[in-house]
Amino acid sequence: MTITRQEKVNTARGAATEAVHAGHPDARPGQPVVAPIVRSSTFHWAGPDDGTDLLYSRYGNNPNQLSVAAKIAALEGTEAALALASGMAAISMTLLSATGAGDHIVASRHLYGATHALLSGELPRRGIVTTFVDPGDPDAWGAALTPRTRVVLIELPTNPTLRVFDIGPARDAASSAGALLAADMTFATPINIRAADHGVDAVIHSATKYLGGHSDLIAGAVAGSAALIDRVAKMMKLYGGSIDPQAAWLLERGIRTLPARMDRHNRTAQALAEWFTGVDGVSEVVHPGLPDHPDHECAARMLRGFGGMVSIVLEGGAGAADRFCSNLTLAAAAPSLGGVETLVSQPRHTSHADLSRAAREDLGIPDGFVRISVGLEDLEDLKADFAAAVASAV
Ligand SMILES: *Cc1c(COP(=O)(O)O)cnc(C)c1O
Repeated sequence: MTITRQEKVNTARGAATEAVHAGHPDARPGQPVVAPIVRSSTFHWAGPDDGTDLLYSRYGNNPNQLSVAAKIAALEGTEAALALASGMAAISMTLLSATGAGDHIVASRHLYGATHALLSGELPRRGIVTTFVDPGDPDAWGAALTPRTRVVLIELPTNPTLRVFDIGPARDAASSAGALLAADMTFATPINIRAADHGVDAVIHSATKYLGGHSDLIAGAVAGSAALIDRVAKMMKLYGGSIDPQAAWLLERGIRTLPARMDRHNRTAQALAEWFTGVDGVSEVVHPGLPDHPDHECAARMLRGFGGMVSIVLEGGAGAADRFCSNLTLAAAAPSLGGVETLVSQPRHTSHADLSRAAREDLGIPDGFVRISVGLEDLEDLKADFAAAVASAV
């Protein structure tokens, strides 16, 4: 069987079909319907005359690594993709592939915590500096460019306030600088938006979240042109952040149901968000699908679904949020998101624990803020659990 990281984009097929079938090379009689896990770290190869590439699992060209990458490329509508050991491996290898000492990055200031730490604390040690901008200010991107800007980085929807900023200004700034436009699309998934269709060069995911979808693996992905993916794969080979074949197989299995899961995540989250707006003790409900969300119009224009995340603010503040989380019996308090089970977390204790209360409030995260990753349970059961937990928290 031969698979490459590139899957010929079959525009006639829809996302649900691609999710099930893309990356499966061998439908001949006698071949397994589900590809086996190939644990072998290395593959027979005596020399270039063998007519195959040199295969080695750190190179990302084990059959499981290749087939999951081809599936991701098909869903993103890109020439190629690469699966890596984690979302952070995907982000760091993409950034390192495009920058060197003396180079500059322009990034949204609404970023995943570890990405922000990488850009503000780690990359500067290697001579790569970042200017953080307000992604809601269309002029900020262009104003931050320098002659050494190599990457423009955005993320959407953002964590945990679920802001959805227009990609256009960042795209225009990147193209005027000849820089790579990279986007962390973890919260959106290729089902809710195909970022490459909006001009994103490097579409990045923490596949740990929705792509995997079952909270049972750590993985990352990058999708883009074949040339970009070659450069990122070269970094991955050197720094060693390739995905284990077992995790690649599990990820591929998860992605098969991604369109079906996202359809339900989108619908249940919307219904739950609307329901929360009428619950006593909840002072604010944050979801891009609600008309009063600051980016509702932008989200409706760019996204095909508003996503599975809902945030709420409890009137009683920090104490009420703590009681709410510990009184849930169906939803579980745990960090992470995107799984089949509903999870809640308080940014005050997790992603934003290092900030002062005032700094959090400034970002739209007052005490009492609870982020909900809406799972696949029945809406009525979730409502009952949340109603009881709010009632006992106020
Ligand atoms: C979780 C997450 C990451 C990091 O992914 P890992 O798989 O944990 O390395 C990056 N970006 C976003 C938006 C995330 O939610």
